[in-house]
Amino acid sequence: REERRKKLYEACDLAANFFHNCLLKTSFGKVGLEYLKKRGLTDETIEKFKLGFAPDGWDKLYKAFRERGIEESILIELNLIRKNEKGQAYDFFRNRVMFPIMDGKGRVVGFGGRVMDDSTPKYLNSPECQIFEKGKILFAFDKAYKSIREHKQAILVEGYMDVISAHNKGVTNVVASLGTAYTKDHGHILMRQADEIILAYDMDGAGRQAAARAIELLQNTDFKVRVLAMPDGKDPDDYVRNHGGQAFRELVEKAVKPLDYLLSESLIKHDTNEAEGKQAVMQDIFPFIANIHSQTVRDDALKALALPLWLDNSTIFRYFRNYT
Ligand code: ATP
Ligand code: MN
Ligand code: MN
Ligand code: MN
Repeated sequence: REERRKKLYEACDLAANFFHNCLLKTSFGKVGLEYLKKRGLTDETIEKFKLGFAPDGWDKLYKAFRERGIEESILIELNLIRKNEKGQAYDFFRNRVMFPIMDGKGRVVGFGGRVMDDSTPKYLNSPECQIFEKGKILFAFDKAYKSIREHKQAILVEGYMDVISAHNKGVTNVVASLGTAYTKDHGHILMRQADEIILAYDMDGAGRQAAARAIELLQNTDFKVRVLAMPDGKDPDDYVRNHGGQAFRELVEKAVKPLDYLLSESLIKHDTNEAEGKQAVMQDIFPFIANIHSQTVRDDALKALALPLWLDNSTIFRYFRNYT
């Protein structure tokens, strides 16, 4: 079993090298390299993240790996190849730029692959296997942990490109949870390095939902949490590319406390001139407040609703008692 794990690690590492080599050293990798350059990445960043290219065609990786004597079953377990009904092997990742996923020790354990146009699915990701548990991995943690420790702060984003763009512009305390939401295990990974987590998710429906969920899971932990609302409604990659690393840092400085974030999100949705609007905002915020363990913090949170809702404290406290 240990022997098998070792083979899985070796094959992943080899695949990362294969994709990286295709990107940098082959004629068919040029489109991939052009794509990444077009997205603003420097040669150093492409090296640092060992980005790659999965060639078009059906069995380039398969053939190369068979020549090297890599067992088919290893490639299947890693989902690097699949078999059709006739039993013919074909490469899973084809004609995509490749993002190797490393674990905390810097070992390659999986891949994300992106198309270079608008076709779908935009990303393909390695499924979980013996050496790859998504909930336990933060993308780029192996590259970010020193910076996270220095800043005592981790910036959590959604996507590969958000992380890579930030690092590309010198903001290096950035990591991503992979498609999965934030988990307690992610917290354990970050706990040793950071006092503060900045949630910098996309400002779309999925991102907002992910932020709300992460806020919930991070409540009553030892982390200070702040939430960053991307001003122009885009994602961190877009922001960093358009405004640079320094501007992104300044935005991070302005990130707000979870309560203020949830409140501003709710106030956008409801008209607080109306009684129903006031009620709706309270319904949005009360679950969060009810979860606060400390009574003084809870009371302060309730008082913070008074001004935006144009209600006095006693009214808010009364509504809250009825809610709980
Ligand atoms: P890009 O900037 O390259 O368009 P993105 O990171 O902004 O990509 P999002 O749509 O915001 O893409 O998705 C965030 C993350 O969710 C991606 O980085 C990827 O890990 C995952 N993801 C996105 N689309 C898919 C998909 N179709 N299948 C699986 N995972 C996906
Ligand atoms: Mn998104
Ligand atoms: Mn995005
Ligand atoms: Mn993006």
